[in-house]
Amino acid sequence: MTRSSAEVIGDPIAQSKSPLIHGFWLNALGIDAEYRRTLVSEAELPAFFAQRRADPSWRGCNITMPHKLAALDLVEDRGGVRDTIGAINTAVRVGDGAIIGTNTDAGGFYAPIAGLDLAGQPVVVIGAGGAARAVLFALTRIGVGRVTLLNRNPLKAAGLLARFGLKGEALPLNAKLPPARLLVNASSLGMAGQPPLALDLNPLPEDAVVYDLVYSPLQTDLLAQSEMRGLDTVDGLEMLIGQAALAFELFFDAAPPRERDDELRELLVA
Ligand code: NAP
Repeated sequence: MTRSSAEVIGDPIAQSKSPLIHGFWLNALGIDAEYRRTLVSEAELPAFFAQRRADPSWRGCNITMPHKLAALDLVEDRGGVRDTIGAINTAVRVGDGAIIGTNTDAGGFYAPIAGLDLAGQPVVVIGAGGAARAVLFALTRIGVGRVTLLNRNPLKAAGLLARFGLKGEALPLNAKLPPARLLVNASSLGMAGQPPLALDLNPLPEDAVVYDLVYSPLQTDLLAQSEMRGLDTVDGLEMLIGQAALAFELFFDAAPPRERDDELRELLVA
């Protein structure tokens, strides 16, 4: 029998940590399957899906920049992702040979904060790109209170709040923070090679949680500043591992060994 396979596609793709994560779990569970990284340009995307559709040993792929929007047009959207998050990060080949698009970023974002009672609570989100869409979708499901969305382009942010039917306001990046129970950085600011994220965290209450989606570096200035203030924090690897875990189950029909997350995290920061 042909060995089953899955992969991550994007352009560039060398930086992706997905092969390390899925490879670790396949190895830990003794599953004889391959998870590889594949460089796919925008022009190659239609042919990529056509070829994989014809390959019964192919389980699916994770999709990273710049294909998260374009891939939606090349797969079946049985879960209605287009009308909610509006982008996919995972495609799965099902029994009838169809390739279904889905998005595991929202679930991956939510898992580490599932224990917080955020219903009706005020939240601050920074960023209005693809990651922010997954975050806002999760926040609608949680039923949070007012959302203050800070972005370089506040008009784009206002559009997103309206799209998700969230109450709140869109403000520029230099606006004073309101008191909030959760602050999420879903922008590229603070990432290696990007400008820093300069925020005054003083308005946040003692029980606020600060969640940075950026995972390179893992200890961002935002998280360091929050810890200095004694606030609880969640780093970007939590979501990265969480979204991968949901995709892994879809590809390989097995739950990843999350009790070994500490070992996996060491591997990812090495
Ligand atoms: P994206 O769609 O390109 O959005 C980038 C966001 O950052 C936009 O809001 C953009 O503002 C803002 N931004 C970029 N450069 C800026 C600058 N120089 N000054 C001010 N604002 C700037 O990217 P994304 O996919 O949402 O990813 C955002 C971050 O989340 C990245 O660091 C990514 O690695 C991280 N991420 C992490 C995970 C995880 O699993 N932990 C998953 C997905 C993404 P405009 O709207 O004004 O352009």
